[in-house]
Amino acid sequence: MGSAPLAARVVVPVPLPRPFDYLPPSGQTLPPVGSRVLVPFGKRECVGLVVDHQAPTHASDRLKPISQVLDPALVSPQLLELALWCCRYYGAAPGEAVNLLLPGALRRIRGFRPPPLPFLALTEAGRSAGLERAPRQAEVRESLIDGARPRQELIEQGIGSEVLRRMHQAGLLQEMDRAELPAPEPGPTLNAQQRHAVAAVLAARHRFECLLLAGITGSGKTEVYLRAARRMLARDRQVLILIPEIGLTAQLVRRIESRLGAPARVYHSGLSEGERLACWRAAHDGSARVIVGTRSAVFLPLVRPGLIVVDEEHDGSYKQAEGARYHGRDVAVMRARRLGIPIVLGSATPSLESLHNEYQGRYRLLELSERAGTARLPRWRVTDARGRGGGLDPELVTAIRRHLDTGGQVLVYRNRRGYAPVLMCAECGWSADCHRCDAHMTWHQSAASLQCHHCGHYQRTPPRCPECGSPELLALGAGTERLEDQFRQAFSDVPVHRVDRDSMSGRHDFDELLASVREGQPCILVGTQMLAKGHHLPGVTLAAVLDVDQALFSADFRAPERLGQVVCQVAGRAGRGEREGEFLLLTRHPEHPLVTDLARGHYLGFARRLLDERCAAQLPPATALALLRAEAHQVDAPRAFLKQAAGLLRSAHIEIIGPLPAIMTRRGGYWRFQLWLQADDRARLSAHLGRHYEGLHELPASRQVRWHLDMDALEL
Ligand code: ADP
Ligand code: ZN
Ligand code: ZN
Repeated sequence: MGSAPLAARVVVPVPLPRPFDYLPPSGQTLPPVGSRVLVPFGKRECVGLVVDHQAPTHASDRLKPISQVLDPALVSPQLLELALWCCRYYGAAPGEAVNLLLPGALRRIRGFRPPPLPFLALTEAGRSAGLERAPRQAEVRESLIDGARPRQELIEQGIGSEVLRRMHQAGLLQEMDRAELPAPEPGPTLNAQQRHAVAAVLAARHRFECLLLAGITGSGKTEVYLRAARRMLARDRQVLILIPEIGLTAQLVRRIESRLGAPARVYHSGLSEGERLACWRAAHDGSARVIVGTRSAVFLPLVRPGLIVVDEEHDGSYKQAEGARYHGRDVAVMRARRLGIPIVLGSATPSLESLHNEYQGRYRLLELSERAGTARLPRWRVTDARGRGGGLDPELVTAIRRHLDTGGQVLVYRNRRGYAPVLMCAECGWSADCHRCDAHMTWHQSAASLQCHHCGHYQRTPPRCPECGSPELLALGAGTERLEDQFRQAFSDVPVHRVDRDSMSGRHDFDELLASVREGQPCILVGTQMLAKGHHLPGVTLAAVLDVDQALFSADFRAPERLGQVVCQVAGRAGRGEREGEFLLLTRHPEHPLVTDLARGHYLGFARRLLDERCAAQLPPATALALLRAEAHQVDAPRAFLKQAAGLLRSAHIEIIGPLPAIMTRRGGYWRFQLWLQADDRARLSAHLGRHYEGLHELPASRQVRWHLDMDALEL
């Protein structure tokens, strides 16, 4: 035994189900676990990570040596283990760990130097150095004596970049990513529930605990995060805050910086590669003390971790849709557990998964049941929209008029872009459908086109019915574009802003609009999901949700939960300022039990009843669910593959249902089917699937389909 030479086991980002063994670089010892290395792979070279030292499984004389050790021990063994666990649990190749752990710049072979930071400041040495004989350096000092300034400004002032580089090298200057921040503001006095929540987080500072902060919209959850974060910073600990979308970063970063007086670093896919690398390095060397990021930030290296926060923990954007299909919230909980630190999951509308974990005693519930400060929850009203035809609902019009006239702003949510969801022939009943999907094409009037929102198919609007030639085409239903038109006509005295992917070409547009809305002049905002999420708009006094009736009858067992979340989130946009708010829910089914239940306006009660139903029906989160999905251009191929897979995966502990058609059976020209794999225990289900992962690849029918496993699937 002991005489076998050790090899380094290396993962490389390729979709093969195992790591590979390599010898140490010639004349060197084995690089430690977590090292970033360059290895020969097939005909090329690849960047990989050393995950283990092991007696090689193949004859060692056939092993190749590592070409180069790029960064020894770059990733901590603990973080590496978390990423590998993720790949196993979510049924991805181990090489995906490289993609999870390293930003793009570090996945490439050539070293990559992050661009210089944009601000320069004097160091202590720079302030006191004798610069009598270096007049240009003295000029730099003069320019920076009052504090940091943008490098660009100095250059425009005529200072050469060479001088700056030399002073930086000599330790007279330091680079910063922004000018110094103003002294932190104290912030409001916390109410009793907030104080209790902060105390609970701090009490857990030396151990793992998962705290589910269920606070109604505007109850001051963010204030709780900030207060706990401040205490962690004072103890020199790093704080990682995850948010579901890039759009919410700017708002949060401003708040963190003004409250904590420390710069917040940002990590998400909207940044350049250099910016991502810079943040990664700052997390790694500890100079980043507060980091705000989207789900991929859950794998950032932290040297002195103190607290993880997952804001809007119920949000489906935390689930990755490709590669390792991990759930950012769940991985964050796993990470906090391994680090032995507290984690806060915050939401006004917690997921049933988290509520279930709380019942099971795994998470601790902290409730904020009142709005913070003087704000109150809006009054709720359900309006029967039956038989109202295509125009605006008269009750909605009256309510909007009333709020505008008293100086309020109005927010209307509709989860459909475009002018009308259906274009239909009045003569023969033809409707414009996508030929590649089981879906109607949406009519976009301003773009004069029909668009499929599922596969992106696009065509010009036909002038007449392609079936019977009739020119009378009817637009059925209203998307955001039509609502915008209708509001413009009905309320010509105020601005109407549409917020959706068509009208907001970039983040910049949206931020600018939000800033102008915050100035408080009466206006109407109409839009999709973009509007529903966490934006603080204190001038909004009326919020309305239109036409969610589809969700009441959806085949997706999660539809009622999502409906409840979106309704409560939109309602929560109203009345966040001084004035009382009002919320309107328009439905053609006011007597539907989900609607009457929601109308009580108490999300936790609503969610608990849904959870009881899920448990009774043996659905997640009471059981674990994975989907094996397959799709192909031929309708028989996915079914054949899934039947073979069902045979392979059969087990006493796992219930296998299907092959079943996906809810949208045809999309983008593909026929889509799935196998439901259910078990009482998540770990056991995942382990079972892991054992058969290679077997699935080897099934004869697998070559005729595109397939993947989706553990803890959210979409059906
Ligand atoms: P949430 O994150 O729950 O939506 P925020 O923390 O954003 O709530 O708080 C909503 C508003 O109330 C913010 O403007 C915040 O500054 C204010 N606020 C929070 N806590 C208090 C408090 N204890 N007293 C007064 N105002 C508060
Ligand atoms: Zn026709
Ligand atoms: Zn389509």
